[in-house]
Amino acid sequence: NVPKFTNLGELRDRLAPQLWQLLTKASQAAEKRGWHLYLVGGAVRDLLLAEKAAGNLMIKDIDLVVDGFHKSADVGAGVELAKELQQLYPTARLEIHGAFQTAALLWHKDPELDSLWVDIATARTEFYPYPAANPEVEASSIRQDLYRRDFTINAMALRLTSPRAGELLDFFGGLQDLQAQQIRVLHANSFIEDPTRIYRGVRFAVRFGFKMEPQTEEYIRYAINSGIYDRTTQENSRTPALQTRLKAELKNILEAPYWKSALQLLDNLGALQCIHPTLKLDEELLRQLRLLERCLQRFDSQQTFIHWQMRLEVLIAHLAPEYRAKVTQNLQMQEDSIARLKNLAQSLSQVMASLPSHQRPSQVVQLLRQYDLPMLILIALVSPRSLRRQIWQYLTIWANFQPLLNGNDLKKLGYKPGPQYRQILDDLLAATLDGVIKNRTEAEEFLAKHYPR
Ligand code: ATP
Repeated sequence: NVPKFTNLGELRDRLAPQLWQLLTKASQAAEKRGWHLYLVGGAVRDLLLAEKAAGNLMIKDIDLVVDGFHKSADVGAGVELAKELQQLYPTARLEIHGAFQTAALLWHKDPELDSLWVDIATARTEFYPYPAANPEVEASSIRQDLYRRDFTINAMALRLTSPRAGELLDFFGGLQDLQAQQIRVLHANSFIEDPTRIYRGVRFAVRFGFKMEPQTEEYIRYAINSGIYDRTTQENSRTPALQTRLKAELKNILEAPYWKSALQLLDNLGALQCIHPTLKLDEELLRQLRLLERCLQRFDSQQTFIHWQMRLEVLIAHLAPEYRAKVTQNLQMQEDSIARLKNLAQSLSQVMASLPSHQRPSQVVQLLRQYDLPMLILIALVSPRSLRRQIWQYLTIWANFQPLLNGNDLKKLGYKPGPQYRQILDDLLAATLDGVIKNRTEAEEFLAKHYPR
């Protein structure tokens, strides 16, 4: 393994200056103690991929690893370094995770550093005593720290401290894979150990426009054919952490601009089975997802609702009703999502049974206004076409209708304020919706006829 040296000055010129300054301060603190400090993982990848001399790369997550002390001496090196940095950056919050000997510095909407998260770890290795278990950790060298990672392009370290600052520790051919634009896994049974890596691999492939290296793709298919998804879909007290990670990766994918291509690739690889063995991205599901986007653009441009979660709901709604509850529970979805998916079958049959006999707009409004927007969208997506049309018409036109008179008008007309107002206004609205009254004069006539004072 020939040492590779990067041009540190050139890398510096790609990064936002305030980030470079932070890295410099961290490496000075490490050098002072005779330690090595490395930038590792995704930040190295992003730095190597970044545009030359752009000077604006803002990385949100920075992973640093401290190494170079005697093994028995100082497993708390990362923590010590984080503490010193916090003195230099008092606005950062310091978090210490004792069991893993790591520390994190967090900035929240900082004018310079924005919402930056810097993890500082002591070089370590992880063992998997059984697949997908929580890793056990012990102090170890930087090579082992990199060895436990997922893909070659994520398993490089850039030495920040002198001597040999700028050295790229690339034991697994990450740089070559970056140049060849491919996603390559480090170990043959990596996906068996941690199925969420399939989702990560797909995310990186689509995000960077890279291809999946053929052998890696084979490992993925092998893992899926061997039934790893059983572990992600079955109830198993040993693997809740796995489902939490799967959900986090699903969130990453479904909130990214490239979510549709990522779902396609997951489906091609058979990896949607990790959500449920029967889940397939067929034409019908694609149509529903497209329609969901139209609805979200039109009715929720302010993002009041959580869009990635609604995409996930549509995926789950595509499963047979008897499977849905289990999947929502496995993925520990939010209460409102769980409720929507639980009520979907019943609400759909209710709407399907009632809507055809509701011909007048006021009847449609009466029926549909009991559902909130996310529920109604979900119902519309899985409804037959004729119902979908009526729901769309409700959402785009009828739901926005207001009665031609309001409470103040009623008061001026001499109606005594009270519970009756609700009924009067509802009737006025219904008459407006159905075209029985078209202006205020007609509304007043309507009142005089139906609610004589
Ligand atoms: P992003 O820019 O999307 O955040 P990232 O590579 O920084 O990408 P993180 O999820 O923040 O992704 O993980 C940081 C690093 O930790 C990765 O680069 C990888 O080296 C390692 N890593 C994360 N998840 C796993 C995993 N499931 N298995 C092995 N290594 C992982």
